[in-house]
Amino acid sequence: DGLANLIARFRPGEVSDKQREAQYSFTPNDIRRAIINRELVLHHQPKVTTHSGVMRGVEALVRWQHPELGLVPPSNFIPMAEEAGIIDELTDWVLETALKQLRDWHARGLTISVAVNLSAKSLSTPDLADRIAAVTSRIGIEPKYLLLEITETAVMSDLALSLGTLARLRLKGFGLGIDDFGTGFSSMQQLSRIPFTELKIDRSLVHGASEKPHLHVMLQSTIEMGKKLHLTTVAEGVENPSDWQLIRLLGCDVAQGFYVSKPVPGDALAGWLKQGTQHLRPQRPSMG
Ligand code: C2E
Ligand code: MG
Ligand code: MG
Ligand code: MG
Repeated sequence: DGLANLIARFRPGEVSDKQREAQYSFTPNDIRRAIINRELVLHHQPKVTTHSGVMRGVEALVRWQHPELGLVPPSNFIPMAEEAGIIDELTDWVLETALKQLRDWHARGLTISVAVNLSAKSLSTPDLADRIAAVTSRIGIEPKYLLLEITETAVMSDLALSLGTLARLRLKGFGLGIDDFGTGFSSMQQLSRIPFTELKIDRSLVHGASEKPHLHVMLQSTIEMGKKLHLTTVAEGVENPSDWQLIRLLGCDVAQGFYVSKPVPGDALAGWLKQGTQHLRPQRPSMG
């Protein structure tokens, strides 16, 4: 549709014209085949503590390594997978792959956590919490190393329905993150009813906030709210030194964004490990 294309055009480099044309021509079977043919891949984006720059975890982000189109971003096939009712198959693949990758990192001494995104549709599946617990124990990962991210708008669209699944996940010991916070309209009262452990503040409140007073105020009060609710606060979209310096000043706990690292294939993280570092940020001279 027109708006999506317009938005895509303002993110140069993320989506090629070829991919944009193909956006609506995927069928559910294309995605099933992609899973079977091992065309889906995960990239991992580091999340670092703002006080030391140490990587404590990564977010696993799915891409489709399409034989003709190249690397297709998730926005081009996740909505279709949700509509076609095959998002659970995709989620299962992402969970299994992310957890196996994590087991490998742990075996090499990189004891980080991994975050996986859940779609709103999955939250209403009654057995989701059990399925996640089953795959985690089968692969041999402690629940505290897996964090599930759910967007603010997804949770709030049907709070009653999501609440049961989220509570069960939390009781089993998994981390729960509220994603893209600031794009919806949830109140502190609503938020306090859900057992979240992490508040991920949307890029739209983070990037450029040092030059825009209204963003600065919203960012500051969102971080304060997160702290009052005893949540780990994470800033998304930290793209440059000013973003980085501001969130540190405001006391945000964790940073994620291109300034720290883009999402990278699993081998790249293993490469950093070989260099003996989980410290991504302090090595850059521009750090304040
Ligand atoms: P998200 O969960 O909010 O993930 C963060 C998105 O922001 C990623 O886009 C990441 O590449 C991008 N990003 C990170 N740092 C920066 C930055 O500094 N600047 C800018 N401009 N962007 C940044 P990506 O990988 O295209 O994913 C888009 C969305 O697709 C994700 O948003 C998530 O909602 C969804 N998604 C990705 N993987 C999965 C998955 O396995 N399952 C489900 N259900 N959704 C997924
Ligand atoms: Mg996310
Ligand atoms: Mg997000
Ligand atoms: Mg987002």
